[in-house]
Amino acid sequence: MTKRIVAFSRLKDSHLEQLRQEFHVDYFERLDNTDDPDFRAALAQAHGMVGSGLRITPELLDEAPHLEAIATISVGYDNYPVDELTRRGILLCNTPDVLTETTADTGFLLIMTAARRAVELAEFVKRGDWQESIGESHFGSDVHGKTLGMIGLGRIGAAIARRGALGFGMPVLYSNASPKPALEKELGAKRCEMDELLAQSDFVCVTVPLSADTEHLIGAREFKLMKPSAIFVNIARGKVVDEAALIAALEMGEIHAAGLDVFEQEPLSPESPLPYMPNVVALPHIGSATHETRDAMAQRSVDNITLALKGKRPISLVNQDAWQHRHQ
Ligand code: NAP
Repeated sequence: MTKRIVAFSRLKDSHLEQLRQEFHVDYFERLDNTDDPDFRAALAQAHGMVGSGLRITPELLDEAPHLEAIATISVGYDNYPVDELTRRGILLCNTPDVLTETTADTGFLLIMTAARRAVELAEFVKRGDWQESIGESHFGSDVHGKTLGMIGLGRIGAAIARRGALGFGMPVLYSNASPKPALEKELGAKRCEMDELLAQSDFVCVTVPLSADTEHLIGAREFKLMKPSAIFVNIARGKVVDEAALIAALEMGEIHAAGLDVFEQEPLSPESPLPYMPNVVALPHIGSATHETRDAMAQRSVDNITLALKGKRPISLVNQDAWQHRHQ
């Protein structure tokens, strides 16, 4: 029997072709609504799913009685009910590593652009306002030599810290679930309580995954602990931050500026004041969005789902227990 896959994000022809050589593929290049009857009909027969950006609920899983594996084209898996998938023996595969350096580049881009006011001042030039030499009112803040506080020192956090410590001579503080002795040795990074990190850092950068433990990890209390000169960067997930508290902290001058790739609601609501604040750099969730990296992520997902549906261990498996469940 040829197994069936629902592909729910845009894939390039070569990736689709690779899947079609082994499986029947129901392809939804753009899926706005999981109530789409064609999607529901495909789900009812699917053994695998591949894509990103869809919230998978237990109710949706009830519609997919044959599902064996999902390959998300992302490293974050906060859109998936992991425990429920594991309970049902459904493998969840993701795409770590291949996007780490690109996402760290974006994190550092936010640090640099927020500190040097690059977007705001590029707009100033574009408007034709550069009529005389710039003065103090256009100055930014140094990045090199300043203290970088990393909330989360996993793959992406470490790659950002490496850029800061080795490229910009930045002392690194970090708060993380577990200690990272190898990175402490490599980068001179110091582990501390989050409150201490917030009080001491010139740049506070968030790279923890979104989970029940990290939702609104940074809120009004945390912004009050930061220096008034602090620059806050979120490259993780919008909901890790209480966005209303962030807006208030920026408005009240409790922190100096922010660089944001992710938001509580995406795409960002037109009512949000964030993109209009001169001290905010707001990007449309582009962390991993380069041609090379998105291609590598899609390839990893295609490889993951192919291996999983052939009964082989996928390259990147989130719920190891589901593997035991299927193969014990
Ligand atoms: P990772 O390697 O798993 O790193 C996450 C780190 O956070 C780990 O070191 C983990 O600690 C730590 N952590 C988890 N929960 C914590 C908590 N409650 N308190 C303190 N530390 C905690 O993941 P990654 O590959 O670096 O990716 C991180 C996140 O970035 C993803 O989950 C995703 O949401 C986001 N992301 C965003 C973009 C974008 O486009 N903006 C792109 C890629 C990823 P341990 O080491 O002790 O487990």
